[in-house]
Amino acid sequence: METVIAKIIEGEDSKNRQKIEAAARILREGGLVAFPTETVYGLGADALNPAASAKIYQAKGRPSDNPLIVHISCMEDLEKIAARVPAGARKMAEQFWPGPLTMIFEKRGNVPLETTGGLATVAVRMPGHPVALSLIQAAGGYIAAPSANTSGKPSPTLAEHVAQDMNGRIPMILDSGAVGIGIESTIVDFSEKIPMVLRPGYITPDMIKKVIGEIKIDPGLAEENSGTRPKAPGMKYKHYAPKAELILVNGAQEKVQQTINDLAREAALSGKAVGVIGTDESCSSYRYGIVKSIGARSDEDTIARHLYGILREFDQKDVDIIYSESFSTPRIGPAIMNRMLKAAGHQVIEV
Ligand code: AMP
Ligand code: MG
Repeated sequence: METVIAKIIEGEDSKNRQKIEAAARILREGGLVAFPTETVYGLGADALNPAASAKIYQAKGRPSDNPLIVHISCMEDLEKIAARVPAGARKMAEQFWPGPLTMIFEKRGNVPLETTGGLATVAVRMPGHPVALSLIQAAGGYIAAPSANTSGKPSPTLAEHVAQDMNGRIPMILDSGAVGIGIESTIVDFSEKIPMVLRPGYITPDMIKKVIGEIKIDPGLAEENSGTRPKAPGMKYKHYAPKAELILVNGAQEKVQQTINDLAREAALSGKAVGVIGTDESCSSYRYGIVKSIGARSDEDTIARHLYGILREFDQKDVDIIYSESFSTPRIGPAIMNRMLKAAGHQVIEV
């Protein structure tokens, strides 16, 4: 199958509309299309068509018990797939939709079990990206879309990343350039009495508490509970992994830099191709291996935005081992570290 990459170009409104309409036609006919959202690129299918949803699992190599997020473009469409929308969820939608927030509800009968990985609940998000919203509308209102990467690989933040994984496997990629946020949505489960955060993201627990008061955090997310199964099925899988071994170094900044320099030197001397992940502030102090900046500590959003891209860049450089600083930044640090720890298979050196 040839994969068409359709570029969305600012100012070319009528051509863009044609491209989005072509993509919507593929979706309505039960096919797959990759498209941009503000978090990461998604791999979309008609969420209410079981055969279409099933194709997503096949293209990604995704385990069949890992449910998909249904993307909608307006509030009226939520009621048609969610059996009960609690008042707290409505407040959250008012505050954060369209945006990087996914909410989980008891599903209605029209949502196939193929889309929900066999669960009686459905995850729903209204994305904050104009191309995604137009596509959802044109495709009939409901697009099931996990991240558009091969299962286990870093999520795509550029159309090129999607092509690396999906070329020849899907008919179309809508290319709208780099995404804005770079990590997946925050997931909050409203099928529980007290809403529970199942995946950390750009919208933090503090932001949620300000809107709805009491919330819980899935105990399965805590590093010390790594034996406890998280409630979101997808959170238990090894994820985001680059080809190389990734090791995080955590502690006081000066010690971290010294340790990474020592480790990188040792690895280079033993003949390994080494990568180092630092920041705009620290990169000049690294002396061994291929050194890349993930972003600026002074602007933590840049770290989230480049996280997956930098892992893919090191894949292309064929390094054997990557040493990285850790990024427990003030606001979205937990969301960043949740991804980094998985990418590293939880290998952390404390200094
Ligand atoms: P992705 O879009 O690739 O980030 O994957 C979707 C994430 O949402 C996975 O971690 C799923 O386990 C989670 N998810 C989707 N639907 C549900 C649900 N009904 N209950 C719990 N987690 C869900
Ligand atoms: Mg994913």
